Order: sequence, then structure tokens, then C-alpha cells
Amino acid sequence: MPELPEVEVTRRGVAPHLDGRVVDAVALRHTGLRWPFPEGLAERVRGQRILSTGRRGKYLLIRFDHGTLIVHLGMSGHLRILPLGTPPQKHDHFDLVVGGQVMRMTDPRRFGAVLWHGNEDGDVDEHLLLRGLGVEPLGEAFSAQLLYRLTRRRSAPIKQVLLAGDIVVGVGNIYASESLFKAGINPRTPAHRIGLARYERLASAIRETLAAAIEQGGSTLRDFMAADGKPGYFQQSYYVYDRAGEPCRICHGEVRIIKQGQRSTFYCPNCQK
Ligand code: ZN
Repeated sequence: MPELPEVEVTRRGVAPHLDGRVVDAVALRHTGLRWPFPEGLAERVRGQRILSTGRRGKYLLIRFDHGTLIVHLGMSGHLRILPLGTPPQKHDHFDLVVGGQVMRMTDPRRFGAVLWHGNEDGDVDEHLLLRGLGVEPLGEAFSAQLLYRLTRRRSAPIKQVLLAGDIVVGVGNIYASESLFKAGINPRTPAHRIGLARYERLASAIRETLAAAIEQGGSTLRDFMAADGKPGYFQQSYYVYDRAGEPCRICHGEVRIIKQGQRSTFYCPNCQK
């Protein structure tokens, strides 16, 4: 599933092809993805200029003068920039024709979303899917103090509090395991038992882990967006994620796997207390 770094890398990949350009056409090859495509979407955006391509959590926000196109990649979706006239394949459900090229969304499982939020409905941050989101982990609002303050009454394990996304977005299953490892915090620790000093380490670890993933993805951006490139997401090397039974890269003890809220958590009992 694309996590925040993949979505940010996607944003950086498509933005130069979209920003400041006029939409020539829209193609919809299905009634919808997770939800139906917005009624009259083509008429709404055809002939309109794209102001900017932003991101909030895992939602891409393609902004126009009169509203915002919200795109979510779901479980299996991806976007590519293709030459005009490239024949669509089976799972290519949505095209935005812009500046003589096609931004094409492929989504085999159709858990993704393409939605419209008009200015008449208020600020896009108030959209039902966006308003409950926590702060951006790479933004200025994210800090150890914020984590500390908002967890004083949260007795759930820190891993699950991070995954909930209501304090900070984008720390999905992979990055929660990796960040907690870097910070030396056991994923089962109740969030309210963690003090400010340990949250300082965790906030830094989250920022570093996500920034490194984005940087790594950025270095493969050309393949990632290329017409003939493989649509898969970039591979990374992890400290603990998906390494159960393998030696810890720091202490050489065994990386363990546990289930937390139906999700697999990977950690090193020696390095994480
Ligand atoms: Zn270790």
C-alpha cells in the first residue's frame, strides 16, 4: 500500500507536469473507485488551469481556482505521466489530459478515490476525509511537545496511537515500526507512560525516517514516473520492518514480530525498552 513517502514522491513527480497548465480533457473508464466519480467532473475541470499540486496526509490535492481535485491511491493505485494517445490498460480508470500529456491513474483494486471539493463547500481542509487528520510529520506543527501533550490520556500502545493518525499523519505500519526502533521505544509501551525526552527522540526518528524514505524514492523518481517504468513502489532497506527472525542491525539479537490491532509490529527487544 502506498504510504506517505510514496504519495509525496508521486506528488513531486506529477506536479511539474500539472502546475500552471490547463486541463484539456478527462477520461473516466469506470463508474468510480472506492466511491463513484464526481458527477460532471469533466465539465468542472476542462479548460481550467491547475494552480498547484499539494498533499495532505495520503491525499493529493490538485488545486484549481474554483475547487480541489482530491486523489487517493488506495491500496494499489499509482499515477504516471504518459504521452498523449497511450492506449489504456485494464486497470486504468482515470486520465487527466494536461499540457499535451496524460496523467493516468491505475488502480487494480479500486480502493483509491477521485473526489471534487468545490470552493462553495468551504476550505478543502474541512472536507470530511481531511478534517480529522493529525498534523503533517514534516511540517512545523509536529513536535515532541505535541506528542507528549496529546498522549497524556492515551493508554493504548504507542504503535497503535501513531497508526491512528489523529495526532500525526503518515506514520503507517512500516514507519511506525522503524521510527520506534530508531527511538529505542518498545512498541507496546502505553503512550501516556512515555516522557518528553523519549518523545523528543521519537519525533526526530519519525521525521528522519520519512524524510529518508522520500529522498530514496526521489532518487528513483525517473523510473517511478516513466511511461515504460514498472508501476511498483520503491523498495527500501529496513531496520526491523519485515525482518522477523533476522539479526538486529545494531545488537545482532533477533528481530521479533507481534500483532497489535491486527497489524504486524516488528521490533528488537534488546534495543527497544
Ligand atoms: Zn537490537
